[in-house]
Parts: sequence; C-alpha cells; structure tokens
Amino acid sequence: MTAPPALVLGGGIGGLAAALALAKKGRGVRLFEQGSELKEIGAGIQLGPNVYHMFEVLGLTGAIERWSAHPENLIMMDALTGEEVTRLPVGSNAFRQRFRSYPYGVIHRGDLYQVLLEACRAERNIELHEKRKGLRFEDQGEQVVLHMEGGEAIEGACLIGADGLWSKVRAQLLGDGKPRVSGHIAYRAVLPRAAVPDDLWQNNVVLWAGPKTHLVHYPLRRGELYNLVAVFHSDRYEEGWDVYGDTAELERKFENERPEVRRLLEKIDVWKMWVLCDREPIKGWSKGRIVLLGDAAHPMLQYLAQGACMATEDAVVLANKLEASKGDHASAFAAYEQDRYLRTARVQLTARFYGEIYHATDVRRDLRNSLLKATSPEAAINGPAWLYGGIEV
Ligand SMILES: Cc1cc2nc3c(=O)[nH]c(=O)nc-3n(C[C@H](O)[C@H](O)[C@H](O)COP(=O)(O)OP(=O)(O)OC[C@H]3O[C@@H](n4cnc5c(N)ncnc54)[C@H](O)[C@@H]3O)c2cc1C
Repeated sequence: MTAPPALVLGGGIGGLAAALALAKKGRGVRLFEQGSELKEIGAGIQLGPNVYHMFEVLGLTGAIERWSAHPENLIMMDALTGEEVTRLPVGSNAFRQRFRSYPYGVIHRGDLYQVLLEACRAERNIELHEKRKGLRFEDQGEQVVLHMEGGEAIEGACLIGADGLWSKVRAQLLGDGKPRVSGHIAYRAVLPRAAVPDDLWQNNVVLWAGPKTHLVHYPLRRGELYNLVAVFHSDRYEEGWDVYGDTAELERKFENERPEVRRLLEKIDVWKMWVLCDREPIKGWSKGRIVLLGDAAHPMLQYLAQGACMATEDAVVLANKLEASKGDHASAFAAYEQDRYLRTARVQLTARFYGEIYHATDVRRDLRNSLLKATSPEAAINGPAWLYGGIEV
C-alpha cells in the first residue's frame, strides 16, 4: 500500500461493505473487528431491491443469488382473527419491473456475511484484523490515529466508525449518550424444514400482527430453514444483545393469538433475545477525517428490514464521495452525509411508525385493518417506492 490506508472500525455488514467499496476504488483499507471471529449470528435478513442494486455495484450479484431466496409475497395477518390484512407481491413481475428488475430477497445472515468476507479477502488492498478492539481516536489533521486495547496505535488517512449501535467512535465524536431503549424485545430462532408442519410452511414473509406483539416467519437457505422473529413490548429489560430468551415469557405474550402463531412458537426450545434500540436521526456524522456509517450513524428499529441495506448503501456512497474528492476527506464526508441523512432519517422514523402499525390495539387495529385491506396491488407496490426504488450511484 502506498497512500495511507483508510481505517474501518467494526467488521459487521456495514464495515465489510465499506472496506469492499473503498478497495474497489483502489483505496487501501485496514479493518479492525473486536470479535474473536469474523462471523454473523444465525438468523435471517430481508433484502430490499434497493440493496440488490448495491450488490451489483460491488460485484456481488452472482454470489448473493447463490444464497438468497425470493419470497412470493410480504403478507400481514391479523394475529387475533387470522384474517389477511394486506399483501405486497414482491415475487411478481409487476414488482420487479417497478424496481429496475431488482428482486426482493431473504438470506441467512451468515451467508450474506460470508459473501462479503470472501469478497474482501479477495481484494489485495484490504487487511482484515480480528480480536482487535478500538478504544479511541485522535484526528491529527494530516492523519488519524486509532488507539487499540492493549496499547497499539494505528495510523491511517481517515477513520470510518462502523462499530454499530454502541459505537465508541460515535461516543467520542458526538458524546450523545446511549441509544434509546424502545421497550420492544425481539426473540429470534431458526427451525430446520423438517420441524415445521406442512400447513405452516410457505414461501412468503408472513407477519402476524397482534396487540403489542408480532411474529415474522420466512424460509431461508432455499428452503432448508425457517426463520422466526417474535417481538413484544416489555419494560423489563434495559439493554442486552445476543442473550438467551425466556420461553415462558414469550408464550404468555402470545397466549391469546391464533393457533398458527402459538404452534410455531412452541417448536422453539432456544431463543436468542435482543432489546431493540434506536436513536433520533441527527446531522453531524463526521468531523475532519472521522466519519460514521451504518448503525453507528443511524440505528433504527428493524420494522422496515433495512438497517443492513442502509449500511450497504452508505458504504457505496461513501466510497464514491471519497473518490470524487481526491483526498479531501472532510468535504467527501460532508457530501456523503448530505446524500444520506434524509433518506436514513426517513427509514428510522418510518420504522418506528411501522412498529405502531404492527402492534396496534383496539380502534387503531380496526383502522389499520380497514385501511390496509382497501389497498390495491398497484398501490401496495407504489407505497414503498421511495425506499425500494433505491439511490442513484
Ligand atoms: C431483530 C433484527 C432483525 C433485523 N432484520 C433486518 C433485515 O431484515 N434487513 C436489514 O437490512 N436489516 C435488519 N436488521 C438491522 C441490521 O442487522 C443492522 O442494521 C446491521 O447489521 C448494522 O450493521 P453495522 O455493520 O452498521 O453494525 P453491526 O452489525 O452492529 O456491526 C458492528 C461491528 O462492530 C464491532 N465493534 C463494535 N465496537 C467495536 C470496537 N470498539 N472495536 C472493534 N470492533 C467493534 C462489532 O463487534 C460488530 O461486529 C435487523 C436487526 C435486528 C435487531
């Protein structure tokens, strides 16, 4: 590497996508991940057509297509009555035509991660470092220094904070405190195909909307697995990540819901639990040679299934702006934020609103059902066009 490398802190989907996007522009990158292994948790992730455009830009289309599956519909069911509320025909020709032929997909997070990791490993100007925790940075004007646990100081041309919801880079850059605890808890699990009763198996992303709860399920790995995400309201938990859930609590939360919901929940012995957090959208993602990306910049609730998609869009835009600025990091980062902040703010705020719609009770629930049932397939496809239509890069 001749020019000083860009430093990336965090080897999640956002950090790897950023490293890859920069390397494709000829930049040297050193990425540091605190985890003992570069890997993702065992759960599914939905991919909107907007991120398939990014995969194309990053040269990943073939690899992603080998691992992703394409559901026929996104369906909302009423978890009390079992009636269908609405559906978005994401597998239809009309949907694909509307979004420049990009599909809607679902993929195992580990498979998406592996695709990104292999693509990064194939780039000779990316260095990936595991078990390396960043503690703080110094912007010295001409370069940045990243101070690591253990005392090492690493120099680079700039620092991209892709270190997620609890970002240390953000804490030092903005000092804006902890993320907002939403009061919503997600339990996640994956079932093998054989464990799912035939009448409950379908190639759709199904969301069972109940009072202050919802359950989502869809097939993964081309039908080998069934992904389940159960969400409910609770003020019992403050914060936490990737810990085991309480099966009895989950059963209580869903006890009045349809048998289809309860039968699926009963199949799971071990759940992983997440306390869902987000933040208010903000401006000021960068200062000098330091910039935030992905959840570090704009953490969101998962109700639009777009956090990883947004992080990947960020990565592509950031690399484009850096290339265009010819070494002026501060102006590249300002241009990147300018391009990104309203779109990501809209996703953050809309995701909160979708949470209210999914979990509506009483008259709100009746209103939701009556308005959404009246939606035509054309209107259902046009509604999310601002999101799935993607960005120009
Ligand atoms: C239940 C649930 C379902 C979701 N479903 C979807 C979906 O369907 N579609 C979608 O697009 N998104 C979804 N998301 C959101 C998505 O998972 C996140 O938005 C996305 O993973 C953010 O990526 P990131 O790289 O910014 O952060 P992260 O994935 O959090 O990665 C940050 C990385 O930085 C590392 N790190 C942190 N601090 C340090 C440090 N000091 N030093 C070194 N390394 C550090 C961490 O170990 C981690 O590997 C979902 C989220 C949840 C909770």
